[in-house]
Amino acid sequence: MRKIQMVDLQKQYQEIKQEVDSSIQEVINNCTFINGPTVKQFQANLEKYLEVKHVIPCGNGTDSLQVALMALDLQPGDEVITTTFTFIATAEVIALLKLTPVLVDVYPDTFNIDMDAVEKAITDKTKAVIPVHLFGQCVDMERLMNLAKKHNLYIIEDACQAIGADYHFSNGEIKKAGTIGTIGCTSFFPSKNLGCYGDGGAAFTNDDDLAKKLRGIVNHGMFVRYYHDIVGVNSRLDSIQAAVLDVKLKHLDAYNQRRNEAAAFYNQTFANHENIITPVLGKQTTHVFHQYTLILKNIDRAKVVAYMQEKEIPVMIYYPVPMHLQKAYQDPRYKTGDFPVSEYLSQHVISLPMHTELDPEQLNYITSNFLKAIELAKK
Ligand SMILES: *Cc1c(COP(=O)(O)O)cnc(C)c1O
Repeated sequence: MRKIQMVDLQKQYQEIKQEVDSSIQEVINNCTFINGPTVKQFQANLEKYLEVKHVIPCGNGTDSLQVALMALDLQPGDEVITTTFTFIATAEVIALLKLTPVLVDVYPDTFNIDMDAVEKAITDKTKAVIPVHLFGQCVDMERLMNLAKKHNLYIIEDACQAIGADYHFSNGEIKKAGTIGTIGCTSFFPSKNLGCYGDGGAAFTNDDDLAKKLRGIVNHGMFVRYYHDIVGVNSRLDSIQAAVLDVKLKHLDAYNQRRNEAAAFYNQTFANHENIITPVLGKQTTHVFHQYTLILKNIDRAKVVAYMQEKEIPVMIYYPVPMHLQKAYQDPRYKTGDFPVSEYLSQHVISLPMHTELDPEQLNYITSNFLKAIELAKK
């Protein structure tokens, strides 16, 4: 059996090696390393795939969130509502721009931002909400967009984990994650569902003026060469990464399908187990399973982790500490106990290997050992 990885990029590369190699070689032959035609081609193909007017490539997912906040002219002290149960980047960019993060809890089943909590957190200082489509399924965007309209808020979707997921509106309209709010953000970090071979990211928007501004901000605030109208940053997707992404974009739906097949096998195997809660699909969304994350009940999680390590099966805890309990984000407004769902989840979740190359033998090995680990770790 092939060694089990959390994400098996090597095997995936072997399957698309010829396409990727020739695509990269072309960039090198042409020496169009920065802002080359490959970047424009990938941008156009991603716009078509997402059915969004503008894709603005940039250096990484964190930058995409930062430039989104910059483009909206948010000022220090403006309140931005987001979830306490997410990867740090979401809160980091709010802090870097000296905006005021307003944290809220998540739903205990989907792990996504709780809309009642969002509604309660809105004040007259609230300017934006950053919903995170955590682990690969969309938050309740219909309700959020209604709230945004009512309270005049910007919505910046953190779609770093959910590229390719569909959101179904009750009027029958279907939109891709990241194309619904004011600006959508994504990451092409290698392990993401659409990952390159280094760093990369992009912002999406249907607003022409915002798109123009975002393109200026990622390029030193420059709209006419060497004339800098606003303070920007340097954040580019390089052409070699775009070459890889343009190849992998063609496979994205198939990749997400394979993730769903692995998830279905896990779900079936763990169904009705008294100690395991399998992922719950939210309303009106599809899932692209960036992560496959379980909740363990009455189980010593550390024992499970140790047993799986012994069997050379990687497992991860996403995320062990919610934002409001992170050292760098200590805030007198928040303390232990304020967000009980996120705190509970951080103590009880575990993520199993999830990628596009899991074969039946590996899945069987993972699940049978996981069930043994659960037996040994019962409290
Ligand atoms: C990966 C990720 C990011 C950051 O992306 P980078 O490309 O690593 O900067 C932001 N938010 C979420 C939810 C992510 O998973």
